[in-house]
Amino acid sequence: TASTATEYLEQEDLHAAHNYHPLEVVVSHGEGAWVTDVNGRRYLDCLAAYSAVNFGHGHPALVAAAKEQLDRITLTSRAFHNDQLGPFVTALAELAGKDMVLPMNTGAEAVESGIKIARAWGYRVKGVMPDEAKIIVADGNFHGRTTTIISFSNDEQARADFGPFTPGFVSVPYGDAAALEAAIDENTVAVLIEPIQGEAGIVVPPASYLPAVREITTKHNVLFIADEIQSGLGRTGATFQCDNAGVVPDLYLLGKALGGGILPVSAVVGNKDILGVLRPGEHGSTFGGNPLAAAVGLAVVRLLATGELQERARLLGERLQFDLRRLIGRGVVEVRGAGLWAGVDIDPTLATGREVCELLMARGVLVKDTHGSTIRFAPPIVATAEDLDFAVAQLDAVLTEL
Ligand code: PLP
Repeated sequence: TASTATEYLEQEDLHAAHNYHPLEVVVSHGEGAWVTDVNGRRYLDCLAAYSAVNFGHGHPALVAAAKEQLDRITLTSRAFHNDQLGPFVTALAELAGKDMVLPMNTGAEAVESGIKIARAWGYRVKGVMPDEAKIIVADGNFHGRTTTIISFSNDEQARADFGPFTPGFVSVPYGDAAALEAAIDENTVAVLIEPIQGEAGIVVPPASYLPAVREITTKHNVLFIADEIQSGLGRTGATFQCDNAGVVPDLYLLGKALGGGILPVSAVVGNKDILGVLRPGEHGSTFGGNPLAAAVGLAVVRLLATGELQERARLLGERLQFDLRRLIGRGVVEVRGAGLWAGVDIDPTLATGREVCELLMARGVLVKDTHGSTIRFAPPIVATAEDLDFAVAQLDAVLTEL
């Protein structure tokens, strides 16, 4: 068996499918905002597993909830009821200000579920003709990796050689409410968008966009589905990025941090008039709503219910955004973001995003590039102000070296 970093890398290279290109660090432990590699080196985790570790590694309340549930029961399937699902869906519905939750596991499953619900709502409630339902999405979207989801991606790398694709989607420019409205017709059942586009590079739409989407969808009797899988649950300094924009969508898609970084937990959250279209036997998942996931999910919701973490993300985020913006003109071209979530565009003539990530790793900061020369900063919300200062200082030092 392997014991050195080189051996672990070799094993993955030989026997794990090459669908990722990870930085060459082999992590073995984590606590709060910090992780340790197999050589005992510590790194500040400024990716937080694409926002799944919003509350930090090994959060005591989340680990305690998981451990307690591990000793009781972990899986019943939905063939039977369990005593964790009820409390979880009740708390999550309340947090979101809605009355119904569909529990699933991964983000992509929540998106797929949202699509199915919107279509069923279209046929059964709105009265769209069979198989004519249309869903409007935005250019640059990222909603996951299933065959249906990549069908409406415009990232050629995500699509090439994976067709044929699922019909029924129309993509319009992100941030352009007029284009969105123009694409709506009598068969349109939903608009599916990220309130901030994460994988596209933390792309923040104009302030008027989400309110306009809400107004337009209401006017045309079209569902507004907000994919808050990456933007939601504290990251942007609010429970949902939609809160920051002052809008309430019809359906929230949640994932990532909902599982507290411990296990996959996702959900579609909405009101009965929409989620109620699902009838027994029409949709499901062996693991969705399992007692272990529900126990951890409930602990996550309880963490968020006080609003303290959202406030912390907001305050720390202001500091991070301000400090990163001071690097503009010194190797940084642009900084976008909200709360503790920042997309930093590096001058592509100086270095690729990947190169900057490798230099930061050598200085004890883990981040990941997205789309060429953009680097995403999304540290756990439990990071301290000193941690953030450290991260920015290391980026500053890397830029000086370029
Ligand atoms: N939706 C958004 C906005 C995401 O950022 C992601 C993952 O990055 C997903 C959906 C897919 O989630 P998962 O990887 O858990 O399937």
